[in-house]
Amino acid sequence: MSEIAANLRAVQERIAQAAARAGRTPGSIRLVAVSKTVSVARIQEAIAAGVRDLGENRVQEAREKVEILGRPVRWHLIGHLQRNKVRYIFQLFDLIHSVDSIELAQEISREAEKRGHPEIDLLLQVHLSEEETKSGFEPEALLRAIEEIARLPHLRVQGLMTIPPYLPEPEEVRLCFRRLKQLAEEIRQRGIPGVSMDELSMGMSHDFEVAIEEGATLVRVGTAIFGARA
Ligand SMILES: *Cc1c(COP(=O)(O)O)cnc(C)c1O
Repeated sequence: MSEIAANLRAVQERIAQAAARAGRTPGSIRLVAVSKTVSVARIQEAIAAGVRDLGENRVQEAREKVEILGRPVRWHLIGHLQRNKVRYIFQLFDLIHSVDSIELAQEISREAEKRGHPEIDLLLQVHLSEEETKSGFEPEALLRAIEEIARLPHLRVQGLMTIPPYLPEPEEVRLCFRRLKQLAEEIRQRGIPGVSMDELSMGMSHDFEVAIEEGATLVRVGTAIFGARA
């Protein structure tokens, strides 16, 4: 077995165990293999080993890879999306995890309209840490903005995403994940048309098990599958 295949098996096993601890079925959690900076050859190895979802954080890098690999897999955009790159996303991604402002949502909606693109699936990124550097809606701002975003045509809001601060002990971010789930619940209870809160994108190599225990439906795992990035 290749190293990537062995790593993938180990991650899948850990997902199954975390799911079992939380009384969830492993099938309710989708593994997004984060392939930023990873070569096409190594991504192909991962696909051969069974990866079906790939995550990239840059539009340009994803374009180059999708051109070669095509879309027998689902591609996820997990990094910040600049407004001048929005026009490229329609042919590339199955899910945008990182919509972090009303202006960006409006731009995606406008571009989709212009292209006659039916609907694009997205998650709203929430900023839950003290760190100034991370992007995303503050929870209160999201609760104010959600109806306005829901009214934009061509968008399907499927849920929320967060990137917690990196803390040495994964236990320390448990409350961040719990807060994201509570926020999704709060939004779900409003019953807004066009907004399902079915997806929670949270958890990376370092903390995906805690995220699964707290309800993650999408975990974004790079290093634990592909090894450390250069
Ligand atoms: C790079 C990245 C990941 C994967 O991080 P690992 O620690 O390598 O698993 C997940 N989510 C986002 C948004 C990323 O940029």
